[in-house]
Formats: sequence, structure tokens, C-alpha cells
Amino acid sequence: MDLLTTQVLDLIYRHAGRTYPSECCGFVLADGSVHEGTNIQDEIHAVNPATYRRTAANGYTFSVLDTVFLNNSFRTQNPVIVIYHSHPDVGAYFSHEDVDKALYDGEPIYPVDYLVVDAMAGAARGAKLFRWRRGQFVCTGDFDRDPCMN
Ligand SMILES: [Zn+2]
Repeated sequence: MDLLTTQVLDLIYRHAGRTYPSECCGFVLADGSVHEGTNIQDEIHAVNPATYRRTAANGYTFSVLDTVFLNNSFRTQNPVIVIYHSHPDVGAYFSHEDVDKALYDGEPIYPVDYLVVDAMAGAARGAKLFRWRRGQFVCTGDFDRDPCMN
């Protein structure tokens, strides 16, 4: 995807570095701008740990404002085209939870790709892009750890 330039990835990597050891989450819009989201996973875990077993260390949930922003974007000329989040210390892969979160009744909820950032030891400098193809998410982009190499 041409949109994920070194500059765009660098903004996302910085976001992941700031929130480490918690996951970050956010959006990339069609014009290449980055919208940093708020991960409320710790808040909902604190209120209802039985239902929301994960904390922000290994899960993300967008704030209500972010979700409204996301939904509204699809009715504008500048929609969200990538949803990103980071994986602190476990590598960039599309987890079972990530698949669950992206699907409703077996179909993608949003017409977007998913970027998972590898935030190893707080230094987020690599990411993988996943796209829904023929009934499953497949990796369609593997971004180098060194931004200078892109
Ligand atoms: Zn994930």
C-alpha cells in the first residue's frame, strides 16, 4: 500500500512507543493523515474484568469518540482506510482476538486494512498489514524495522 509511507509509519511507530507497554490504536485516513485513537481497554477491564479479561497490555478498544469518528468517516471524502494497533513484546501477527474484533457474523465490519505494529521492548519500528481476502485475513505488507530502508 503506497499510502503507508515512511513518514506515516513513523507517526504510528512513535504512537506505539509512547503507549508502550500498553497497546496503541488509531486510524490512517485516505489522505494519509494519522488519527491517534484512545485505547480504553484498561478502563473497561477495571469496570468489568469478567467480561473484558484483557488489559491494555494485550488488548485494545477504541473510545466511543473514536468509534463515532470511524463510522462517520465512511460518509466523507476522506474515509479511514487502515485501522492500526500495536503488539507490545509479542510480534506483529493477526491474532485470534484481532480476527474476532474485525468481523461480525463472519464478514468484515469495516472496509479497511489492519496494520499491526511490532512494539518490541518499546521500540516500534516494524509492522505488518493484513487484508481480508476470500474468507480470511492475509498479510499483504511487511514493513522493515528500519524506516530508512523503506
Ligand atoms: Zn492485536
